[in-house]
Amino acid sequence: MLRGLNMDRQLLISSLIDYAGRNHGATSVVSRGSDDETIRTNWSEVEQRSRQLAGALVAADVGVGDRVGTIGWNDHRHLEAYYGITGIGAVLHTINPRLSDDQIVYIVNHAADTIVFVDPDFAEMAARIAPRCPTVSQWIGFDEHYESFIAGAEALDGWPALDEWSAATLCFTSGTTGNPKGVVQSHRSIVLQTWATCTGDGHNVNSGESILLAVPMFHVNGWAIPFAAAMAGAKLVLPGPDLSPETMVGWINTEDITFSAGVPTIWLGVVQHLQRAGADVPTLRRIAVGGSAAPRSLMDTLEDEYGVFVSHVWGMTEMTQGSAGRFTHRVERLERDEQRKRQAMAGRELYGVELRIVDDEGNLVPRDGRTPGELLARGPWVAGSYFELETPDSHTPDGWLRTGDVATMDGEGYLTIVDRAKDVIKSGGEWISSIDLENAAVGCDGVLEAAVIGLPHDRWGERPLLCCVVEDGRAVEIQQILDHVASEVPKWWLPNDIVFIDEIPHTGTGKIDKKLLRQRFADHGWPEATS
Ligand code: ADP
Repeated sequence: MLRGLNMDRQLLISSLIDYAGRNHGATSVVSRGSDDETIRTNWSEVEQRSRQLAGALVAADVGVGDRVGTIGWNDHRHLEAYYGITGIGAVLHTINPRLSDDQIVYIVNHAADTIVFVDPDFAEMAARIAPRCPTVSQWIGFDEHYESFIAGAEALDGWPALDEWSAATLCFTSGTTGNPKGVVQSHRSIVLQTWATCTGDGHNVNSGESILLAVPMFHVNGWAIPFAAAMAGAKLVLPGPDLSPETMVGWINTEDITFSAGVPTIWLGVVQHLQRAGADVPTLRRIAVGGSAAPRSLMDTLEDEYGVFVSHVWGMTEMTQGSAGRFTHRVERLERDEQRKRQAMAGRELYGVELRIVDDEGNLVPRDGRTPGELLARGPWVAGSYFELETPDSHTPDGWLRTGDVATMDGEGYLTIVDRAKDVIKSGGEWISSIDLENAAVGCDGVLEAAVIGLPHDRWGERPLLCCVVEDGRAVEIQQILDHVASEVPKWWLPNDIVFIDEIPHTGTGKIDKKLLRQRFADHGWPEATS
């Protein structure tokens, strides 16, 4: 083999913050913490304080490979932790504060965290669980305690030269089935996925942007956007705990936000607020939506009324972003309705994550947009295994990650997530997509949010029950919803019953908690006409 004659420079996260500090030092990073105080800093200061945190961690005996936990909101200290912890070769373990005490204890112990940084909002919880977490020597508040922790330390002079395969981050899946599973990303995989995220087909993030991070930094590394913002040298706004629609719109308009990313629920709220308040978001050009399926009505409103392009992406903890919603050259030239149909799908393969769909025997299904199968993924930033856990069924024998999603792919490579395998409704041997039914229901005037679960049915095995939350002060008839849904899905998919509830329960990662709904409606009898 003739080896390439390039320099041996490892792909390290520290190179991102180094770059941002050097070339975009004066570019703003705006942060609001749980104390409601707004801090205006910049990449130069973030870089400097990250080195100071790194120095403090080294002085506290944190070494390469040691896990350091964070339980925090999106703010400047959490951003410094992203860089300070990983920069010395320690492992940033982001912890989702919305999990139960028992789950947090489980993952802190499983990770064997040495130090955990905790936002004051969660101080009580930390005090409660601390006695059950023997590996943690210090719980440090993300407040003045953090300030004094770093104040006493010498800033690290420069970042150490690590092996790019060193573990950089640890993030647990939410464990809807069994215990949470730990996904460990290396420096190399983070730099590569960040690059992909910055490309035109990714989020097209560049130095001219002002980014509002509405994806929590405790989940899937904030979709790698805290890293992408540094790689691009973009302005970054970290909004803290308050993601209410009013506040989001406030940030967009005061900080000239051009790009933002978040789960559909956040944007549904923003749109509703804009319509009610008669407000506008003139600077906002694009948003990325994912984490669960975004209804087409959301894209229609955002684009037609507010000029905001929606990139619908699919991903998971095991790989961060796995698809991209940019229009191809051909789709750019299609009628708007045709474009929107594709936008409502879950994007196309983003270079770096190979996707394929297989049937029960592992054979590829045709790319016809109709034939469903299990979605598999592989690539340099897809998890090859889990942290200290044997999971014999998580990968195929030839090494592809089994995503647990049922999907179709069309001839152009557009992905449609039919359902999670465990949520799809199996009626008379055929599959009904709970996602499609939910999206159709949300398109009905007056329906705010919808969730569909499968319940046992004598004749068909399983049939759909639609749970709806209606806008305040509105009365919506069951028949109205059925008529609307019937215009969008096959007739035999129509829910056998519709119930109105006050609130749809969500999991710690903001997804509809179908387990809870299934428990709640376990004894729900079908109306006679449909039983
Ligand atoms: P968890 O920790 O529960 O795995 P993730 O955020 O990793 O949480 O969830 C990944 C899952 O979210 C995917 O497997 C898929 O089911 C769902 N998902 C993500 N993006 C989309 C999307 N655009 N459309 C439909 N489902 C999505």
